[in-house]
Amino acid sequence: MKKIFRLTAFILLITLCFTSWGCSSCKKSERLSQYDVVANLEGDTLTAKQTFTFYNCYENSFKYLKFNLFGRAFRKDAKYSPVLPQHLSTSYPNGISYGDMEILACYQEGKTLTFSYVGEDQTVLQVDLLREVFPNESAIIVIEYVLKLADVVARTGINDNTINLGNFYPILCAYDQKGFYECNYYGIGDPFYSECANYRVRLTCAKELVVASSGKKVLEQTENDKKTTVFTIDNARSFAMVLSSKFQTISQKVDDTDITYYYYEDASPKTSLEQAVLAVKLFNEKFGKYPYSTYSVVQTQFVQGGMEYPALVMISDNLESNAYGEVIVHETAHQWWQTVVGNNEIEYGFLDEGLAEYSVVIFFEAYPEYGMTRSQMIKSAEQTYKIFCSVTDKLMGKVNTVMLRNLGEFSSEYEYVNLAYIKPCIMYDILRKTVGEERFFGALKDYYEKYSFKNATPYDIVGAFERRGADSNGFFKGFYDGTAII
Ligand SMILES: [Zn+2]
Repeated sequence: MKKIFRLTAFILLITLCFTSWGCSSCKKSERLSQYDVVANLEGDTLTAKQTFTFYNCYENSFKYLKFNLFGRAFRKDAKYSPVLPQHLSTSYPNGISYGDMEILACYQEGKTLTFSYVGEDQTVLQVDLLREVFPNESAIIVIEYVLKLADVVARTGINDNTINLGNFYPILCAYDQKGFYECNYYGIGDPFYSECANYRVRLTCAKELVVASSGKKVLEQTENDKKTTVFTIDNARSFAMVLSSKFQTISQKVDDTDITYYYYEDASPKTSLEQAVLAVKLFNEKFGKYPYSTYSVVQTQFVQGGMEYPALVMISDNLESNAYGEVIVHETAHQWWQTVVGNNEIEYGFLDEGLAEYSVVIFFEAYPEYGMTRSQMIKSAEQTYKIFCSVTDKLMGKVNTVMLRNLGEFSSEYEYVNLAYIKPCIMYDILRKTVGEERFFGALKDYYEKYSFKNATPYDIVGAFERRGADSNGFFKGFYDGTAII
């Protein structure tokens, strides 16, 4: 996600985004789990049947599966609210509103399965399987659910211009050394962590709604006042859609990818599309190839600067023009750092945010016509970070500069932005100056290639630099644990 911190000025915006560990054995798409979602949207209510084929690519067996139900975080009695108190008025312009995600039934082989809401905030679904699933075996389960959308400007919700369908379905919890990882919906950062899977999503909605989506449209049918659209994407970490009756579109092909910009209020849509096009071209060259055949850049109502999903990014309609372009670049960089190379965004959000933010520096450095220089951007970041340290020290008597910590351990959005975006951005620039251009970009390419469609950890990027001959372990450690002084 992008909380907006403008590298060119001293403005704090922000985008939220995070990562984690992962399944190292699930690499070939034919062996991935599969989501087949058939959904019907009527007003603010999405009724859906999700057929989930679980492929056990792990070394142990499973008697139950767990799914994150992010839609339940919008219910009235939720412990963790997706909306921070300071964003209540902008998130709920029409008054406080609540949503929910209710599981109606779960089946396997025609038999009803027992299920329960678990987790610290009851936002996790546990489904007990008919029988144990051993390594390399599959289980097909059906989940019927209803998602009630709140009238809220958020990743999931209805607002005056758009219907945001991020996190609209039960998504299998990532499974790592500690078991299924249950995500609490923290208001700070992007509280997500998932494994790649294949998706087929069939949505029926009012025919006047234009649907922007992760994945490729493979079917569209209109009948009376309804429209049914089918989208597919393979090897994706999640799936999102944004709907609006106001959308106009403009497209351009880059290499093998069709980039489409969806917008309803943009005086220069060609300029916005061009920034996405240039970013994809540059990052393809600098980091490695974008793997999907489509990429949707979608203007929407959003409180933060933007939000990333595989092959789709949300860009807030409430940004001034310079920040708008910068957010497009930041969110586009997340296609490399978060959607393709994933990470546990709750445990170490800085991993993808820092790389996305430094990719913005790389972008403006490569395209000087935008009028921003690398040295200006880094100087601005350093000044912003020093102000944060100084202000926090005066207010709190001490500054916690540890980057490596859980989302729930950040005391404010201000602290999170400085430690997950700004500090790592400075860190990568120092590292680049130290190890040189060839090692720096070589290590990033290696990291992208090695961890594509997997989840990486903060130690994996250290390894990528070490393998390039950069003695960087102590350097990274100093930043991670807060002992490095800027
Ligand atoms: Zn971000």
